[in-house]
Amino acid sequence: MNPNFLQTPIEYLKGVGPNRADLLKKELDIHTFQDLINLFPNRYLDRTRYYKIADLQKSNAEVQIIGKISHIKTVEQKRGKRLVAKFIDETGIMELVWFRGQKWIRENLKINQPYVIFGKVNWFNDHYSMPHPEMELLEEHEKSLRSAMQPVYPSTEKLTNRGITNRVINKLMQQLFSEAKNTFVESLPERVLNNLKLLPKNEALFNVHFPRSNTLLAKAQYRLKFEELFYIQLQLLRKNLIHKAKIKGYPFLKVGGYFNTFFSDHLPFELTAAQKRVIKEIRKDVGSKAQMNRLLQGDVGSGKTIVAFMSMLIGLDNGFQACLMAPTEILSVQHYNGLLEWCNKLNISISLLTGSTSTSNRKEIHENLENGSLHILIGTHALIEDKVKFKNLGIAIIDEQHRFGVAQRSKLWHKNERPPHILVMTATPIPRTLAMSLYGDLDISVIDELPPGRKSIKTVHRFDANRLKVFRFLKDEISKGRQVYIVYPLIQESEALDYKDLMDGYESIVREFPMPDFQISIVHGKMKSADKDFEMDRFVKGETQIMVATTVIEVGVNVPNASVMVIESAERFGLSQLHQLRGRVGRGAEQSYCILMTSHKLTHDARTRLETMVRTNDGFEIAETDLKLRGPGDIMGTQQSGVLNLRIADIVKDGDILKIARSHAFQMLKEDPNLEKKENAVVKFTYAQLAKYRNIWNYIS
Ligand code: ADP
Ligand code: MG
Repeated sequence: MNPNFLQTPIEYLKGVGPNRADLLKKELDIHTFQDLINLFPNRYLDRTRYYKIADLQKSNAEVQIIGKISHIKTVEQKRGKRLVAKFIDETGIMELVWFRGQKWIRENLKINQPYVIFGKVNWFNDHYSMPHPEMELLEEHEKSLRSAMQPVYPSTEKLTNRGITNRVINKLMQQLFSEAKNTFVESLPERVLNNLKLLPKNEALFNVHFPRSNTLLAKAQYRLKFEELFYIQLQLLRKNLIHKAKIKGYPFLKVGGYFNTFFSDHLPFELTAAQKRVIKEIRKDVGSKAQMNRLLQGDVGSGKTIVAFMSMLIGLDNGFQACLMAPTEILSVQHYNGLLEWCNKLNISISLLTGSTSTSNRKEIHENLENGSLHILIGTHALIEDKVKFKNLGIAIIDEQHRFGVAQRSKLWHKNERPPHILVMTATPIPRTLAMSLYGDLDISVIDELPPGRKSIKTVHRFDANRLKVFRFLKDEISKGRQVYIVYPLIQESEALDYKDLMDGYESIVREFPMPDFQISIVHGKMKSADKDFEMDRFVKGETQIMVATTVIEVGVNVPNASVMVIESAERFGLSQLHQLRGRVGRGAEQSYCILMTSHKLTHDARTRLETMVRTNDGFEIAETDLKLRGPGDIMGTQQSGVLNLRIADIVKDGDILKIARSHAFQMLKEDPNLEKKENAVVKFTYAQLAKYRNIWNYIS
């Protein structure tokens, strides 16, 4: 085959021409022969079976029948004309009906010649009929490459309306394959093919378009999915390797006084095995010459803070400064207060920098940072402003990563001559397979264990009609000395309405829980920051028993005495948000509760979300369900990452293949980091093309 064959513009394929080429380009992004070959079917119709007219059932969906047209007539009705053909086989009679394209059909249909028809059957006026059947002369049907499993290609309304039906695409594909003569170049090395018993490229491509059998189809799909995921993983892992080789970090060679003293004298509790493991992973990273870029995933309450703190201590032990950045002011303050206590014991100087830090205070912080007398800085986005200059920032921790973009992460890098080690912490677990594809350039640690003695939160779903009962329950809990959150949704698009709901809710709660027996805090986005802090503070100190709030409390707030989370209009929240909110309770010794309030009107998805919340507390399980419900498109990071450009693999369903592909890519790079071995030549070649194209299928030939 001429090596440029696959790059031939699509208009040169027999049967395409300029008009169809235009449509194919616009609608399906098909520009070359190669693009067409890599248009993979969405699904397959089973055409192994031929039905007899006498055997048709009213429940049949799509059927295939062999028979002849005995005659055709046009039937005129008030609602318009339709073309009706009598179709017969040796067992009975049925009708074929056309509402569109009647002239062409009438001129081209052959009477009394065997046809294979395919389509949906209806039971109508005491007989079966099939509107707009797919038809092919039996003779052609037997000759064609078309196999029993018939591919259904991605399409658009415009394409179908302009006559480029699935059948046409199928024909074009046949044309292309007969011209290509099965000489596609293998793009995986032999060792991998043999190891995994994968179909060769030629057979895989052929069978995905013209499956010879179900078994071969499955093998073809597997091979192509593997290939797609393998190259994506190879790319990600290689980037990571190159990054590590190129970007020198500050090696933290020792673990010294701060870390050891804290560990031996001041640990407030025994670390969980998972916390210990993660600290080890981090120690290994920061001790190497490379810069650490690590994502720490751990469910709410799994104890990420102490891991962050101990990582900072290693930095301090090596003469560096550390910082911790949180997404909100409230969270920064909490972190600051929490860490301050530990820092005082160790004689470490620590400051807080947020938007509301006073000018004089700010000036002092800037000075102490630059002269090195300040060891740890906690704060919000204010930390990455250009004015903030460290003497020697060695490690930066970013909490609740989903609020920060990659750009902000990289801003931290430029605070030094070399980038600091970076630890990104997130409580929104991302299913592992997805994380592998999204954050291939980050290493991942997981705290998959909660501190001991945590009672799992009891979650229930209640309808609005039962509100009085719920209020009674809240009163009981409050009388036992507990505190309660009541959260309202706040969605940008309906802000005014939501705000009204919140205020109405607040008023009814004030009526139901009157002063002086009950004290209520309220926090929402329209309040001034100082007022928010004041209200929050009262709740944290236990001066108020009820916190009415919008989702501003979503992230990180820690009030161990709060044991009930009521979520109003819970059907309007996403799963990960519900899970985050629930994580605000269950932090103390008491049994905690989460009450999901909804109206009776629930969509199927909303019901699934609520059921999932009631069933499990496991953040990873919730994340999996969330991914299945929403698809990967809504998850942070997927837009840029390319997982949405997958042609044949499915990031949600093909997790198992992904793991195998990743481990093969990993192994290959371990043995041959620059892909220089002869046996990996095809990988090197293919890999080199990756950089040039958006999608791996654009180069594979
Ligand atoms: P998150 O991972 O959500 O940031 P935190 O670090 O805030 O969790 O920890 C949640 C709570 O659990 C805190 O009150 C913390 O002191 C406590 N905690 C963390 N680790 C342990 C442990 N190993 N044993 C007991 N309590 C712990
Ligand atoms: Mg936290």
